[in-house]
Amino acid sequence: KALNCLAGTGPTPDPCGVCDACVRIRDGSSMDVMEIDAASNRGIDDIRRLREGVKFAPAEERYKVYVIDEVHQLTGESFNALLKTLEEPPDNVVFVLATTEQQKVPPTILSRCQRFDFRRGSLEDLKDRIRTVCDGEGWAIAPEAVTALAIAASGGFRDALGLLEQVAAYSTGTDRIELADVNTVLGAVGSERMAQTVAAIVNRDAAACFKVVDEVMAEGVEARQFFAGLRRTLRDILRAGVGAIEEGATVMAAEPAWLKEQAKALSTTRLMWIIDCINEAERDLRWVPQQRLLVEAVLVKVATGDPAMAALGPIDPSPVPRQDSARRAVSPASYETRRQPEDRPPVRETGRPAPPVFSATGPVPHDLESLKKVWAHYCSVVGPSTRPILAGSVAVRLQGPTLVIESHSQLMTEKASQRREKLEADFAKAAGRHVPLSFVLAKPDSTPKTEPAGVEEPEPLDQLAYRVLDGEPAPPDDIQPSPAAQDDDDTRSDSPWQDPSEE
Ligand SMILES: [Zn+2]
Repeated sequence: KALNCLAGTGPTPDPCGVCDACVRIRDGSSMDVMEIDAASNRGIDDIRRLREGVKFAPAEERYKVYVIDEVHQLTGESFNALLKTLEEPPDNVVFVLATTEQQKVPPTILSRCQRFDFRRGSLEDLKDRIRTVCDGEGWAIAPEAVTALAIAASGGFRDALGLLEQVAAYSTGTDRIELADVNTVLGAVGSERMAQTVAAIVNRDAAACFKVVDEVMAEGVEARQFFAGLRRTLRDILRAGVGAIEEGATVMAAEPAWLKEQAKALSTTRLMWIIDCINEAERDLRWVPQQRLLVEAVLVKVATGDPAMAALGPIDPSPVPRQDSARRAVSPASYETRRQPEDRPPVRETGRPAPPVFSATGPVPHDLESLKKVWAHYCSVVGPSTRPILAGSVAVRLQGPTLVIESHSQLMTEKASQRREKLEADFAKAAGRHVPLSFVLAKPDSTPKTEPAGVEEPEPLDQLAYRVLDGEPAPPDDIQPSPAAQDDDDTRSDSPWQDPSEE
């Protein structure tokens, strides 16, 4: 329009928009302004045809304009053919090469171009544009739907309008384009589901996590979309928690009051940790074939786990030297002194978990309660390939020497059973002894005999660590700490944690 507007005597930075040329260009009916999509016309023949056309003078406008969109898609041959034209451009012909990946355009072409960088639109720009188009088309649209579309377009005007067209087509015959329509078309997760997910996390309810995943998956939502929606919601909660909601300019999909409430229920530390976990899981999505398991695993982890648990780190693969199985009893006094926070395993600067705490320590007593703890902790520190399989599993009982692990998923039970030997070997490192495992499917209608791993109010990290590592003072009828150990923490006693069955 700037080149061809007829309002003045020549090109102008401010085309009038109403003259014949401006109108033709706007309507796409001008014979001299051509848009070519290089993504679908990338071959040498397409460029040859273009070069033929270039020879002819403009039919009705001042300039002939060729807009080549996605120009980086042209083949090498096509670029060479185009280069010849660019080297000797006919009068009154202007090429507009559009691309988002200018590094893929050969330098020979770039050196003959004038470059203009376009920025992405702000959320408000996009919302304005969407509203303008809706007004022009006579479409009623809910404000939340406008916001959702603008967020989804992430700065792209064309994307925003493309999405709007799809949504409008989808909701033809309804009075108004609603948020639900946008969510359906985008495959996004509705705010209702997000509220449900956040509630499951806040309430530390593992069963509710599985329910949410069931429902979300049944709605055909992709794991990636789910994570994106959840991360956005959590970020909104975090912003609400630190008071960073600007009235009027809010981009939040949920009510500020609701967000503030959730922020109060989830501490900032926990929120940050949850967001980290989601980010990590999103990265894992690429190479995890069972995406659903990953989604379930991360939800259960953030619902039932605790940021402090992350400090415990992964299980050490190094073998536990038998003679170093420090069987020592800890007196209540020394237990107290060792609960000091600085006794926590250090977390390295990189955010990598601290060195393992389980290796080279005494075996865990062979009673159900101790093994339950170790199992719950083991599930929270296993590697990403094993984590989904053990998500939500619970140590429920001992059958002789065998620890029975229940899961609510048939698939996970099977997977875990297939890997039983490997899991036993890993778990032996955590427990400091070999414990036979048996994986069974929980009866669907039976209430779990115990809460899922970690659901109970998490034990302070150091407390858990010392319970698992050194054993807390045993119940009197079980094992008595040796009198010597009462006074000297470093005294090693031979008796306390020996399992009679292992003698
Ligand atoms: Zn004009």
